[in-house]
Amino acid sequence: MTPLYDRSDHTLSRLYVDGRWVPAADGGTFDVLDPADGSLLARVANGTVQDAHAAVDAAAAAAAAWASLPPRERAEILMSAFALMCEHRDELAELIVRESGKSWADAQGEITYGAEFLRWFSEEAVRADGGLMVAPDGDKKIISILQPIGVSILITPWNFPAAMATRKIAPALAAGCTVVLKPASDTPLTALALAVLMERAGTPAGVVNVLPSRRSGQVAEAMLLHPAARKLSFTGSTEVGKSLLEIAARNVLDCSMELGGNAPFVVFEDADIGTAVEGAMIAKMRNGGASCIAANRFIVAASIASKFSRALADAMAALRVGHALDRSVQLGPMINARAVEDLATAVAASVASGSTVLATGTRTEGPGTFFPPTVLTDVSPDDPILHVELFGPVAPIVTFESDTQAIELANATPFGLAAYVYSGDLARALRTAERLDAGMIGINRGFISDPAAPFGGVKHSGLGREGGHEGLLEFLEPKYIAVEW
Ligand code: NAD
Repeated sequence: MTPLYDRSDHTLSRLYVDGRWVPAADGGTFDVLDPADGSLLARVANGTVQDAHAAVDAAAAAAAAWASLPPRERAEILMSAFALMCEHRDELAELIVRESGKSWADAQGEITYGAEFLRWFSEEAVRADGGLMVAPDGDKKIISILQPIGVSILITPWNFPAAMATRKIAPALAAGCTVVLKPASDTPLTALALAVLMERAGTPAGVVNVLPSRRSGQVAEAMLLHPAARKLSFTGSTEVGKSLLEIAARNVLDCSMELGGNAPFVVFEDADIGTAVEGAMIAKMRNGGASCIAANRFIVAASIASKFSRALADAMAALRVGHALDRSVQLGPMINARAVEDLATAVAASVASGSTVLATGTRTEGPGTFFPPTVLTDVSPDDPILHVELFGPVAPIVTFESDTQAIELANATPFGLAAYVYSGDLARALRTAERLDAGMIGINRGFISDPAAPFGGVKHSGLGREGGHEGLLEFLEPKYIAVEW
């Protein structure tokens, strides 16, 4: 098996445009660091506005041929990419661990999840169906066909460098669209390795372009305002997403937005506490807490709060923290020093306003950017910590007395991505699910992501869905043909 990359020959240090590996137009580079020890992993070409134009031009030039390829052939390329991703699982997992800091188990989980998008959309590629109906007044037939929406700009976050890329590339290619992917500047290496993989799977030049850059704002704007661009698919923070929506509006782009979350984790008094803590550890600690669907606020029935809090604190304190290349480590470093500072500030402010630190894990001394697992109790419902996306191993617990109060607390946020409900009464849990403002609900389970399911949020958590059949539709546009025969 030929490796995807060779760390000694700097395979992953260039832009991938029109099937070629090129330096940035101005020759500039930026450093990619290992957050566990601050060491230099790679110097990567720092894409410019000129490179952004070239990448969109390449995607535009490849668009017609790719769109006219039979769906079955596009499907076969995606299926080969799936097989290659499984084959190169360890190589990709190592890159993910090194550049994002997540644990080995989480990186392996990400490869499985990320590869499944390639397989799922290889199966969906042949299902871009349309419709035929007789007009209500009988004067004609109405045919609707689904066509590729066109050149798509994909922008992804650092926290799932492989899966967020395949969750967009796979449906776009299945639908017949060509793409330019701008990965997060903290984690561009996995995306570059995926470009190698897509090329080996048989993707023609220009169909997938990858443009790392630290000039995110300029490069994104140049791509979104390019006359050939037709679609933005963004995953990242709500703040950046809102600014991109404004730019995309100037070029009337179709937008799919997967934005920030603030997931409530509601535990009713009739829940099995052991099962709830087990689910809480998954919902809170998958990816070190840096997941958009991470349980961000625990809303627990007052009568069981102390038992639940103690058990959660014990489980959190027992986590093994360290460099994730040590495969027994369960919690790696935060992505950068700013993430550590943000968590420390939020916890200190919460304690100052009356919360209690029930238990903290061991603090791992530098040079890496570590934060100890932390559980906070006695949190007041108006504590600001309940209103920020923590994106790390901090679990604030607030209590409730009635179902209505639990739902009000859960919905008291502009976000609406995921929510979790634990109860021994399924009807009660389902009733609660209906009343929660969230795009996705886990009932008595802490892991909900599935490539076959529509993933996405309501309110400020986004627009559109990824995964499922819905994920394919995001890259297709209906065309209406009026026919007489
Ligand atoms: P981010 O918004 O800082 O960055 C996301 C992407 O946008 C990166 O590629 C970044 O380089 C780019 N970017 C940053 N500033 C930009 C600008 N001014 N103009 C154009 N592009 C810019 O987010 P992040 O820190 O990488 O990721 C964490 C966020 O992503 C969290 O809010 C998390 O909830 C969210 N997220 C959402 C989902 C989802 O499916 N809803 C999934 C994963 C992460």
